[in-house]
Amino acid sequence: MSSRTVVTVVSAIACALVVHSNVAGWSQGRGGRGAEAGQGGQTATAYLLKPARVFDGEAMREGWAVVVRGQRIQAAGPAASVTAPAGAETIDLPGATLMPGLIEAHSHVLLHPYNETPWNDQVAHELLGVRIARATNHLRATLEAGFTTIRDLGTEGAGYADVGLKQAVNQGIIPGPRMLVTTLAIVATGTYAPKGYPAEWNVPQGAEEANGNDLIRVVRDQAGKGADWIKVYGDYRAGPNGQTMATFSQEEMNLIVSTAKSIGRPVAVHSSTPEGMRRAILAGAETIEHGDGGTPEVFQLMKEKGVALCPTLAAGHATSQYSGWRPGTDPEPQGVQRKRQSFKAALDAGVTIASGSDVGVFTHGEESRELELMVAYGMAPIEVLKSATSVDARVLHMENQIGKVTQGLQADLLAVDGDPTKDMSVLKKVKLVMKAGTVVKR
Ligand SMILES: [Zn+2]
Repeated sequence: MSSRTVVTVVSAIACALVVHSNVAGWSQGRGGRGAEAGQGGQTATAYLLKPARVFDGEAMREGWAVVVRGQRIQAAGPAASVTAPAGAETIDLPGATLMPGLIEAHSHVLLHPYNETPWNDQVAHELLGVRIARATNHLRATLEAGFTTIRDLGTEGAGYADVGLKQAVNQGIIPGPRMLVTTLAIVATGTYAPKGYPAEWNVPQGAEEANGNDLIRVVRDQAGKGADWIKVYGDYRAGPNGQTMATFSQEEMNLIVSTAKSIGRPVAVHSSTPEGMRRAILAGAETIEHGDGGTPEVFQLMKEKGVALCPTLAAGHATSQYSGWRPGTDPEPQGVQRKRQSFKAALDAGVTIASGSDVGVFTHGEESRELELMVAYGMAPIEVLKSATSVDARVLHMENQIGKVTQGLQADLLAVDGDPTKDMSVLKKVKLVMKAGTVVKR
């Protein structure tokens, strides 16, 4: 399918640039340890990683070892069967679990926690330069937490800064995860925010407004300016009393998805109402974001059409606390209960769950909160790990590059102290992060 082809091409460009930054790293003397001669006189740094166990993207493997050479995984298997090239540096990781670098399928690197500054004030009052400066810190924190790939779902008023940040990462200017970006995102006129200004004022919005046939131009414009995915708000607080209601008509949603698909961009739709979700699913969207009000019928339709749910459990968990909820002390707020129920309904229907947290609502670098909540809300720990690695990679059309610890894939790796299938909170105990064969945290 055409979307797959283009996403692969975009990623190939990213890979080429990573080679460049890796070479720059070697010239600064990184390649001194464990280096050996490679093709064309270059040196390829090699590592032998010896953890207690490996989660390879599918299952937990006790006693495995992994060899990394250059940017890629050269071998992974039972320690006795794995041989490292001469000169490889051995990294012992006793007690640790080695796994693919985690994937965050729903981030906002240009937002910071709403309990620091409400969304409205970030969008309406913060200078672009300040927002970008913060984002560079966010990207570093995310990478050092072991998230080596993110899909960033909208700059929320920060223009095309996500495209620039992605280039800065790929060129080795700043540290950060691989990025898929969406630029402005698309909303129906009058439905989004910031609100609360005199009607006579035209206040810039947190996403690009478009309607009807103009959606064709806007989708193409965002793609042309660097969007890897098209992000659409399928419903929002647009009702007469601020109720959340579907915004784009079925015809408009069809137009968005068909225009995006014909130029190889998959579509992600923000939606929490059954009607908004239904329109997105029928139009051919590939992921639904949030899905808080999803019914068993709608999740059944998602399952039939192969649409993935990005549940963003951690966002609602955080905003409820910003409103005063004390987990473990107070009764669960209605919004959190609804989230728990709809997530369970999605699991029961067998919907593909793509791990994504809506980080930015809460602190960057704490993305693993989502995985802890997925377990707390009833998903098997091993399935949670798959969701944030091999499943996310497939949903993002990157399964040929990342998401598994297997020969030939990019050496994006995370080692944590302990076994996350027994206690997901060990994801916070990071011992090693590697991106494309380069150690970024140790
Ligand atoms: Zn979001």
